[in-house]
Amino acid sequence: MPTVILCIGMAGSGKTTFMQRMNAHLRAQKQAPYVLNLDPAVSKLPYGTNIDIRDTIDYKQVMKEYKLGPNGAILTALNLFTTKFDQVLEFVDKRSEALDYVIVDTPGQIEIFTWSASGSIITDSLAATYPTVLAYIIDTPRTTSPATFMSNMLYACSILYKTKLPFILVFNKTDVQSHQFAVEWMSDFEAYQRALKDDTTYMSSLMNSMSLVLDEFYANLRFAGVSAVTGSGFDEFFDRVKEARDEYYAEYKPELERII
Ligand code: GDP
Ligand code: MG
Repeated sequence: MPTVILCIGMAGSGKTTFMQRMNAHLRAQKQAPYVLNLDPAVSKLPYGTNIDIRDTIDYKQVMKEYKLGPNGAILTALNLFTTKFDQVLEFVDKRSEALDYVIVDTPGQIEIFTWSASGSIITDSLAATYPTVLAYIIDTPRTTSPATFMSNMLYACSILYKTKLPFILVFNKTDVQSHQFAVEWMSDFEAYQRALKDDTTYMSSLMNSMSLVLDEFYANLRFAGVSAVTGSGFDEFFDRVKEARDEYYAEYKPELERII
């Protein structure tokens, strides 16, 4: 069974570049992945796809036809595509014997995928058949302040609890900013609290308490620091993917079988 890697993350975090790098990395190891693009609004993709939402849905046309703004049109395009997702699954199924990985790019704006019915349907239907893991891409240089770090972690936490799928935090752009500060903050909440110390506002006292709550979340979390641009950290990332795949079989799959 191929492992499905769903790339999610804030706009600009580097999902598409990360997809390109995974694709190149796996091809170099003779494990060419099956590549899916679910972002209808991307103008140019730096990688080749097996299935591209843009081949069947013209998002500019959707904007015109349904009189929608960009986000509404992206969501509607995803909804239209989801009605045909059973066909996508058939395509993947035909190839699945020969595949090690299926990699999936998602729309720029994270909530369009993570908090929409279509996003859930796509995620759940993949995870019903294949070991599926979430790669949560983080823009490391933009998350160095304690406040943005906290809000990013809370968002990751909310997605983890919503999907219940194995999760990997991917600290991207480490060519620009090392993720060492994040490793410290995640492994030692006192280090995080020290980073807050000059700030005595309400927010900082809230974040102080939140850091204790998140301690539990961090304890069971996998992460990797990578650069989608230089390719550093990808061996480590794929080690985490293998662990996440094991977690899928140990925890997600039995729960799924219990329900159905
Ligand atoms: P997406 O919106 O999440 O798909 O993000 P993109 O892949 O389009 O990347 C957004 C911007 O971040 C682009 O300008 C990329 O060149 C840049 N970027 C992505 N990954 C890296 C990285 O590892 N290092 C650096 N320095 N820039 C990156
Ligand atoms: Mg993108």
